[in-house]
Amino acid sequence: MPEIAGFNTRAIHAGQEPDSLTGAVAVPIYQTSTYKQDGVGGLRGGYEYSRSANPTRTALETALAAAEGGARGLAFASGLAAEDTLLRTVCQPGDHILLPDDAYGGTFRLVASVFARWGVEYTPVSLGDLDAVRAAVRPTTRVIWCETPTNPLLGIADIAGLADVARANELLLAVDNTFASPYLQQPLALGADVVVHSTTKYLGGHSDVVGGALVAADAELGERLAFHQNAMGSVAGPFDSWLVLRGLKTLGVRMDRHCANAAAVVDFLAAHDAVSAVHYPGLDTHPGHAVAAAQMRDFGGMISFRLNGTSSQSGEDLALAVCAGVEIFTLGESLGGVESLIEHPARMTHASVANSPLAVPADLVRLSVGIEDVDDLIADLDQALAQALERGAHSSASTA
Ligand SMILES: *Cc1c(COP(=O)(O)O)cnc(C)c1O
Repeated sequence: MPEIAGFNTRAIHAGQEPDSLTGAVAVPIYQTSTYKQDGVGGLRGGYEYSRSANPTRTALETALAAAEGGARGLAFASGLAAEDTLLRTVCQPGDHILLPDDAYGGTFRLVASVFARWGVEYTPVSLGDLDAVRAAVRPTTRVIWCETPTNPLLGIADIAGLADVARANELLLAVDNTFASPYLQQPLALGADVVVHSTTKYLGGHSDVVGGALVAADAELGERLAFHQNAMGSVAGPFDSWLVLRGLKTLGVRMDRHCANAAAVVDFLAAHDAVSAVHYPGLDTHPGHAVAAAQMRDFGGMISFRLNGTSSQSGEDLALAVCAGVEIFTLGESLGGVESLIEHPARMTHASVANSPLAVPADLVRLSVGIEDVDDLIADLDQALAQALERGAHSSASTA
């Protein structure tokens, strides 16, 4: 395959040549822990034990590296397993990490509750403000951790700007690219050192697998990460690797539909009287719109919005009623699957950060817009909003 092949060609072919033994077009699921050696040390394909390497995982790791434009891809049992391996590879006791002040809750918990016990310090910082990032750098800082867009408020960070700060201070820039996916955003090309994924989300794309990935820009970091992947052992299994590989092939077409559907849902929500704010980087009123337009191919499938309280119901009441009243959207955590999901961050995904600086508004609803027919999605939200408002009108009439 030519080096310069486009994204979809790489996603479908990189690491996925037809099987040399049978010609199987789909990469086989090598459900094996070990490999016969032809005499001691006589490895047939370089494989000796599946924690160290497995052909199905190798295919995925090669495809992930090609998708992100990196030197080395590594697949893990979950996104957090990938994060754990990365941080233990590059940090030691006494080191300091800059974390987004709206970091994914699991990332915050890993750093604040696990790494802190091993003497790694952190500072939450607003990544949208490069001066604040520069000011937070200490002599012991090792890593800038970036997420863009963020969860659930869809904040945008300038990856190239952060890469300049990282380079000037000899820090490592890690970008969690889960929300955008490599189809919409290529952090390594913008100067990041390593990309992190929860492949559970858009890369898997079908809500049927939990997985994670790292892609290193250069081979030297890739080699150190691979050493720790084997030494720590939180690898992706063969079937999970196969599911993510299968998802990756259609990532581009799925993302195009996620983005188009999200844009139409945003138009509907922005025009609705009960909605007080819509958070979506595609809106030109979004503070990160210009940066997002420059560094992303399109604006993604995640939206959050807030609800106006009425005389009879708070915005939180309405948010909960909308979550309860939808019929096509599924109430649930996670994101990035073909089916649309809805959730109430304050009581669900972000309940663990209640009463902390990372707390989110109680009247906020988050949508992961799927790839169903968008008219059906809008009609579903419309009826759920109408039903929620109606309920309040009745209860105020009955109490009057
Ligand atoms: C889900 C998620 C993770 C964690 O991944 P798991 O696969 O659940 O371990 C990390 N970052 C972001 C942005 C996520 O959405």
